[in-house]
Amino acid sequence: MNGPSYSAAELLARLVHFDTTSHKSNLALVAFIEDYLAQHGLASQLVPNAEASKASLYTSIGPPGVPGVALSGHTDVVPVEGQTWSSDPFVLAERDGRLYGRGTADMKGFLACVLAAVPDFLQRKLAVPIHLVFSYDEEVGCLGVRPLIAEIRRRFVTPRMVVVGEPTSMSVVDAHKGPVRWHVEVKGRAAHSSMAPLGVNAISVAGKLLQELSRIERELKVAPRAERFDPPYATLQVTRIDGGTATNIVPVYCRFDFDVRALPGVDVTAIDRRIRAFAERVCVPEMRRVALESGIDIHVANQVPPFAAGSASEAVALALHLAGSNETHAVSYATEAGLFQEAGSSAVVIGPGDIAQAHSADEFIAKDQLGTCMAFLDRLGAWAERGAPVR
Ligand SMILES: [Zn+2]
Repeated sequence: MNGPSYSAAELLARLVHFDTTSHKSNLALVAFIEDYLAQHGLASQLVPNAEASKASLYTSIGPPGVPGVALSGHTDVVPVEGQTWSSDPFVLAERDGRLYGRGTADMKGFLACVLAAVPDFLQRKLAVPIHLVFSYDEEVGCLGVRPLIAEIRRRFVTPRMVVVGEPTSMSVVDAHKGPVRWHVEVKGRAAHSSMAPLGVNAISVAGKLLQELSRIERELKVAPRAERFDPPYATLQVTRIDGGTATNIVPVYCRFDFDVRALPGVDVTAIDRRIRAFAERVCVPEMRRVALESGIDIHVANQVPPFAAGSASEAVALALHLAGSNETHAVSYATEAGLFQEAGSSAVVIGPGDIAQAHSADEFIAKDQLGTCMAFLDRLGAWAERGAPVR
């Protein structure tokens, strides 16, 4: 079947036009991609979320039942609220060799390149199949890709390799940190502030927990360290706090979040155990002496595994070969690569656009980045046709 053929920039213009901010539906964009693939004779498998307001998409080109190379990207983008843009973020605008728009770098540019490469993949006799794996809700904790991975394993075949096309300026990334987010709720007892001993001050208790977190932060800064990363240690930050009712009331509630960006190999469960033990040992007994109903609830709200491909990685070797490079990099932002690796695929991160532009106002992708990515995908198609070993 001879479907329509578009350039990556043309497809990017279409993709950017769908406002797929994470809290909104991505179904219109998914329908566009499904329709485009159908025009090329490809059937898409959709994996919807529980509310059926969003969906991931999977399709495969080449021999069925064979583990191939998955090209993976997320369809959602971060919000534009509070940012000042020079032009409409959802209308692709070209200025000075750059294409501006929300998601151009992170990561609709990669999706556009993959879709533009589909006609080429189809006209080759692929020995190794190429799978398209497009998720939702990546920007809010890699939520959509988890059921998608499970569904691919159940109904199809676990990909042999996964290329995650996050913006790396087309350099090969073989390691990233893993973010873990905790949510903490301190419940004290309210009292008139003039009668403070009758209450349990939730904000004061939270303050003790914050001090312990500062101590952990300082320790993480010293060890372990990995100089490939910037910064070369795991970071811990308190990122939100909320508490109190009025100036003259002992606060009954205080809630806060903290975030750890763990290096591969850092035992985050040890951090979890430590802050819980501190709460139980130091804070709670004192609170309970005044109010039995008081307490501290600590739970992990979201966790994305860190990623370390290792020196024997087949996906890294393939990406280096296709990119014509012999150098790998480590980054501090998270991607879906760690989740794919946990599921048994060899993963690598490489995609067009610069992470420096991701999430910012006037996000853009340089046009030549799209060209570099198209050349990479062209070489991938040729490699998949030969089915040659990577090394
Ligand atoms: Zn991204």
